[in-house]
Amino acid sequence: MNFNLENLVRENIKRLTPYSSARKEFSGAARVFLDANENSFGSPLKRNYHRYPDSLQTEVKEIIAEMENVKQSEIFVGNGSDEAIDLLFRIFCRPRKDNVLICPPTYGMYQVAAEINDVGIKRANLTADFQLDFQRINQAIDENTKLLFICSPNNPTGNVHAKSEILNLAKSFGGILVVDEAYIHFSSEKSLVGEINDFPNLVVLQTFSKAWGLAGLRVGLALANEEIIALFNRVKPPYNVSQTAQEALIEALKNKSEVEKTIVEIVFEREELIEKLKGFSCVLKIYPSDANFVLVKTTNAEEIYKFLLDEQIVVRNRTNVELCAGCLRITIGTPDENESLLKALEKYQKLYEKSFIY
Ligand SMILES: *Cc1c(COP(=O)(O)O)cnc(C)c1O
Repeated sequence: MNFNLENLVRENIKRLTPYSSARKEFSGAARVFLDANENSFGSPLKRNYHRYPDSLQTEVKEIIAEMENVKQSEIFVGNGSDEAIDLLFRIFCRPRKDNVLICPPTYGMYQVAAEINDVGIKRANLTADFQLDFQRINQAIDENTKLLFICSPNNPTGNVHAKSEILNLAKSFGGILVVDEAYIHFSSEKSLVGEINDFPNLVVLQTFSKAWGLAGLRVGLALANEEIIALFNRVKPPYNVSQTAQEALIEALKNKSEVEKTIVEIVFEREELIEKLKGFSCVLKIYPSDANFVLVKTTNAEEIYKFLLDEQIVVRNRTNVELCAGCLRITIGTPDENESLLKALEKYQKLYEKSFIY
């Protein structure tokens, strides 16, 4: 389509003179740093936390660039991928003028970020079996639709959308196509990161919060061509990823094989749990999953949710979400945790069957 990045960017962002931090103006080797009003005497922690972190996370990006086979200039590192989502709104969407398109049921942050930024939200619901509805999508798009969010594998449904379908959307859409791959590591489908050079309007989001097991660090990525990443860097807070997060991430990135092992374990546990859940009469349907959770349609989501809480097991009740009536979203736990869940469900079912007889 007639994609033109220049026309999509908000005027105030084009005009902006980005904040210039002390460490950005001077990044060479020096003996004495008296430029950033840090505490030169240090901190109680006796580590290098008294210095501001690298605002462009160069060392982190070096490793990720090699791992993902992209250039450093094609990577944005954020305070969680939620930061990348918010920045997309601030770069592209004029409050009260522009809109974004989401495909519910999907990740809740897209709508929250839209509301915070006072940007309109259009919805093209997935089909009953959670596939993209291209007719609805194309009908919903108008000349002010700046962002289209596709979550794949999708949260909370767990299914992955075919790469070819997403790329067809990228071709036909004149705005920015955001593909949220938070769960891609658990999927049989390949990432779209390799396509960012062929699709100038494609932004791929990934996170270290799920497969990498680093939700507490708050690190996420946006991968896109370098023109789009340059916009992220203009708008982001200068020191958006802390020194602790950068150091810990560098250490974690050296242990990728460990992460790959846990992914295999989680996928194995997922299929085990699905098989065992099939034996419960309170389970009506288990949706196929390419993620580290399963969406389960039950006879009474509210009641089972509360029962599990009494058993000190917390799952996600999605019964009030579009197309998810009766559904619970269950994260795959360790073998012990999954066993606890199954035991609790057995207990629920025994009680339920008794009350049914009376
Ligand atoms: C969990 C999740 C994220 C992760 O957000 P972070 O801010 O990186 O922790 C992003 N997108 C989806 C769809 C998620 O489920």
